[in-house]
Formats: sequence, structure tokens, C-alpha cells
Amino acid sequence: MLNIIIFGAPGSGKGTQSDLIIKEYGVEHISTGDVLRSEIKNGTALGKTAATYINDGKLVPDSLIIDMLASVLDAKGKDIKGVIFDGFPRTIPQAEALNTMLAERGEEVSTVIGLEVDDDELIKRIIARGQTSGRADDNEETAKKRLETYCSQTLPLKEFYKKAGKYAMIQGMGSIESIFGDIKKAIDAIK
Ligand code: AMP
Repeated sequence: MLNIIIFGAPGSGKGTQSDLIIKEYGVEHISTGDVLRSEIKNGTALGKTAATYINDGKLVPDSLIIDMLASVLDAKGKDIKGVIFDGFPRTIPQAEALNTMLAERGEEVSTVIGLEVDDDELIKRIIARGQTSGRADDNEETAKKRLETYCSQTLPLKEFYKKAGKYAMIQGMGSIESIFGDIKKAIDAIK
């Protein structure tokens, strides 16, 4: 199976590039942000708890996210070509939990696609997205907090996956098509 992690700061293009990867490789999409937004929309207990963190630019606690991810992954079944993990893992404990979950299924992370984009550009993109996304967290103030959270809690994963020999650095500035071209090369190199 192709188990791809799409990694990068908020606004780095993870969602856009995930859609293209899904079309090209037929893998399943798991976006923890999308799952959480749907929980919020449905007014579930998890959604109510998650909203307090999301609206403040903070991460939802690991235990909640790991349990949620496990049940979404189980629901996909075994007869799939692979998964693109979008917005997960975001912490070292989440990455360790993912390794365990995949190992229990006889699987492992195939590659980590790391989209690298300058901070100024990230903020601009998030504010522009906020005009159409309807997301409460797509505003300048929360975007800055989300970037701080990313730097302190998520960026250490880059080293984690580099050490494991799984990190593919992708320049995330430029046209969507040329970025996707680089992603394809990185995925095809491990297939
Ligand atoms: P995203 O759509 O991936 O930008 O996620 C939106 C928000 O959902 C994040 O800013 C976090 O508050 C929360 N979230 C999404 N995925 C995770 C995760 N893996 N761990 C903790 N919080 C998450």
C-alpha cells in the first residue's frame, strides 16, 4: 500500500495537492481537519471540545486525535490502494502512534511529502482562503497562532522523518502543476 503523509504548515497547499495525488494514485484521503470540522458541524461531543482548540489556533489533544484517526482508518477497510494522511501526524506522539497503527496492519509510512513555503506567503494564502472557506480559523490573528503552533509542535517531525529516511522536501512555491510534478517524481521514486 502507498501510505503518504502530506506535511507542511497551514496554507502550504496540503489540501490542494492531496486532491491531485488522490486522482493520480487512487489512494484514500484522511484529513483530520476535515473530520474535526464535520464533528463540529454535527455538534458532537468531540466537535465541541475540538472547536475550543481550533478557534484558538491550538492543536486538539493527541489522545482525541489518535483515537479518531484509528477509527477513520479502520472504517476504510483493507481493500484500498493506500492512504494520504493530510494534517496528521502533527506531533511526535501522533507520528509514533501512526507507526504502531500501520505496523499492526503490516504496513508502514511510504514517504512524507514536505511542502516548504515562506511564512509571509503562508499568511497571505490563509487570509485569501478565509474569504471563501468559511473557516473560523482562517483569519490573520489565528493564522499567526497556527504558525507558531506548527513551528513548536509539528516542525520537529521533519527531523523525525528525515532520520527515518522518509522525508521528501518539495518546494511549495510556484504553480500548482509544477509543485505536483515534483511530488509525482518523489512518489514514483519509492514505488
Ligand atoms: P487543518 O484543516 O489541517 O488546517 O486543521 C485545522 C485545525 O484542526 C488545526 O489548526 C488544529 O486545531 C486541528 N487539527 C487538525 N489536525 C490535527 C492533528 N493531527 N492534531 C491536532 N490538531 C489537529
